[in-house]
Amino acid sequence: MKFKLIILSFLFVLNLQAVITVEYKSGLASGLINTETIDSLDYFNVYELNKVFKAKIMEDVPDQRLKVNMFGEQLIFLLESSYLIHKSELYNFTYDIVQKDGKYLIPVTLLKRIIPEIFPEKITVLDDKIIADNPSDNSIKTIVLDPGHGGKDPGAVGFSRKNFEKDIVLDVTHKLKKILEENLDVNVLLTRDIDEFISLQQRTQFANSNKADLFISIHCNAHRNEKIDGIEVFYLSTAITDDARAVEALENEVVYKFEGGEEAVRKYDDLAFILADMAQSEHLEESYQLGMKLQSSLVGSTNGFDRGVKQANFYVLRGAFMPAVLIELGFISNKEEEKKLIKSSYQDKLIDSMFQGIRDFKFKYDKMQ
Ligand SMILES: [Zn+2]
Repeated sequence: MKFKLIILSFLFVLNLQAVITVEYKSGLASGLINTETIDSLDYFNVYELNKVFKAKIMEDVPDQRLKVNMFGEQLIFLLESSYLIHKSELYNFTYDIVQKDGKYLIPVTLLKRIIPEIFPEKITVLDDKIIADNPSDNSIKTIVLDPGHGGKDPGAVGFSRKNFEKDIVLDVTHKLKKILEENLDVNVLLTRDIDEFISLQQRTQFANSNKADLFISIHCNAHRNEKIDGIEVFYLSTAITDDARAVEALENEVVYKFEGGEEAVRKYDDLAFILADMAQSEHLEESYQLGMKLQSSLVGSTNGFDRGVKQANFYVLRGAFMPAVLIELGFISNKEEEKKLIKSSYQDKLIDSMFQGIRDFKFKYDKMQ
């Protein structure tokens, strides 16, 4: 009797600790996926996909979804179901996802049957082993900096009427590029290198076609009330507060003024918005995190007035297929802030804090990959 019990518990332990081996085609040391058995079905924790395929996993609790990015493609799991969506195709892995102790357990049928079907070139199953391509390196490597305005579009005009937003942000962006490239293993591209006009759409298109991992648009603010000052960072959404709406109107004004008026606006609205909104919504959480890092670092080092991290509906952020934010470094319509913004020692402070914010975000983001 005692002997039987020992055998039984031995089997039980064996079962609990079952693993699936992942061998990489390149000969990289193999990875292991831990599985557990519930009601005689084998499951694995979705985070095991991060371990072996460097998949990025995001929980979307309100929408009851689990988003998994692997090999540069997105799989959307519908919680409490046995379905996932990939490129608008529905795949059924037969058994429902189980939520247990805060973990999402996926049936092993996904690994054995569905994943090889979705990535036939990259993953094959051989007996009890999975043979896979090396996981792709998704760390942040390319950053696009976007100095706002330029050429015929001066952007905000200073209290003194002598300084223009387009010039200040171009200086700042040049210096930020240098410090980023010197200190991080990244390639930094600018949407404009000189004083020239570029449409808002061209800016995000530039970031997308260069496969940028981050898009950072840099601006100075203006307000008809010259007392208003402070620093704020925006990420995309349909505008929420009146204040955010005012800044949004200011930054979007370029479309009316310089890109063909009403007709151009309609083009942005109809053609770009639906797709663009989808593109950004995937990155909202990351954009928010990047915004938080930038804002706290900027306010911390300059003692500037903290206007917060806000959501607004900027044309220039729509259509970016990567985390994207818009920074307002300060109000040049405010006499004191204008004086500071043109001083190179103050600009250096801003640049250093933007560098720190980007660096902190990159370190956190890369670790998640
Ligand atoms: Zn601007």
